[in-house]
Amino acid sequence: MLTNSLVELDRRHLVHPVSSFRGHEERGVRVLTSAKGARVTDAEGRELIDGFAGLWCVNAGYGHESVVEAAAKQMRELPYATGYFDLGAEAPIRLASELAERSPGDLNHIYFSLGGSDAVDSTIRFIRYYWHSKGQPERDQFISIHSGYHGSTTMGAGLTALPGFHDGFGVPYDWQHRISSHYIYRNPHGQDEQTIIDASVAELKAKIEAIGPERVAAFYAEPIQGSGGVLVPPKGWIKAIKAVCEAYGVLFVADEVITAFGRTGPLFASEEEGIVPDLMTTAKGLTSGYAPMGAVFMRNHVYETIAEGAGAKAVGHGFTYSAHPVSAAVGLEVLKLYEGGLLENGRKAGARLMAGLHSLADHPLVGDVRGRGMLAALELVTDKEKKTPLPASVQPATRLFDRAWEQGLVVRSFPQGIFGYAPPLCCTDADIDGIIERTRTVLDQTL
Ligand code: PLP
Repeated sequence: MLTNSLVELDRRHLVHPVSSFRGHEERGVRVLTSAKGARVTDAEGRELIDGFAGLWCVNAGYGHESVVEAAAKQMRELPYATGYFDLGAEAPIRLASELAERSPGDLNHIYFSLGGSDAVDSTIRFIRYYWHSKGQPERDQFISIHSGYHGSTTMGAGLTALPGFHDGFGVPYDWQHRISSHYIYRNPHGQDEQTIIDASVAELKAKIEAIGPERVAAFYAEPIQGSGGVLVPPKGWIKAIKAVCEAYGVLFVADEVITAFGRTGPLFASEEEGIVPDLMTTAKGLTSGYAPMGAVFMRNHVYETIAEGAGAKAVGHGFTYSAHPVSAAVGLEVLKLYEGGLLENGRKAGARLMAGLHSLADHPLVGDVRGRGMLAALELVTDKEKKTPLPASVQPATRLFDRAWEQGLVVRSFPQGIFGYAPPLCCTDADIDGIIERTRTVLDQTL
């Protein structure tokens, strides 16, 4: 009864993010009521394995009392303190310093946002300011990658290169450019990894030359493209692309909103790529979804240039809730959990997940298995030889998602017929095995 009235109220009043307004009205909302570990419970009392950690964010898993306590303590003592006008609170200062200590290279300066989208948006503003400070305001062109996702603010949605975030919104702008994705499975240059790297390097150089090297401000890349379908680049791809940016003096931004905080194994994916980006964005696992927060990491030279340019003036960027003390307290506690065993568990669970997904490779519908750590995907096809995508009639985004749900599994089901996995790092063997078994059942039903 409760569910029915909630569904009706939702239909009437709640505008959902990234949802089909009409489709949503027809299907009705699915309400979750509680969660523990890697399991969520819906309003009908059904328990499901959360194979997607909410929205690839609840990396630590659900129900950590110590996180709840940390938030409650902070709320009791000081629920809010602005960071404006040189004011502050202890928790964000401590979190910034803990993160700086662990981040690659000299990414020592941290600006806290409310999530990933505004972290990305903030980098655009900081980068513009950086080039103004350097006396090169004409460096105002930005390059990203097809199939990339960098959030949905007005500026960030243009760096995002997925049509659903552009059509009807008037983005991208003419200062936002893209190169092709590395997408190994469907790469027009074939599957040889070095050939793909060479082609991307050539394309980026040509793009920079076409824009005019003195005009290019920055290049954005996710270490693994998430919302584009979990596209893992060839080994060495990022390093090669970063070298091109360095050669042209273009700032390199690693968007680690999904990949940071143990999702691919280490705390930051840039670490395993052996790169130090000029700026890095994170969110999601930073607070593991217990409170909203994102972070922009800046290398010393970026921070110093902006500081030098501003002099005594305030750098006019920030929000009321930047560096929120409650979110920061959550972030500090979550970091303890990662280092107290969750990263380790995530690495083991990730190996089990990848092995399990590879065991599905001989299924007639599985065209590609890819991933790293606790970030993975199956790409489904009807003809493996020809890599024929599932027909639209299968409605992968909704019908396959529904079937998985019926089997007690939450996955991300992409419209092009890709199942995405990003379970919490706390997964037990039984959770991972459950994800694999339930996926197999859904595939068998889809044949
Ligand atoms: N950047 C990347 C790589 C993301 O995957 C996302 C969200 O999925 C964002 C930015 C936007 O983050 P948020 O949804 O927290 O605004």
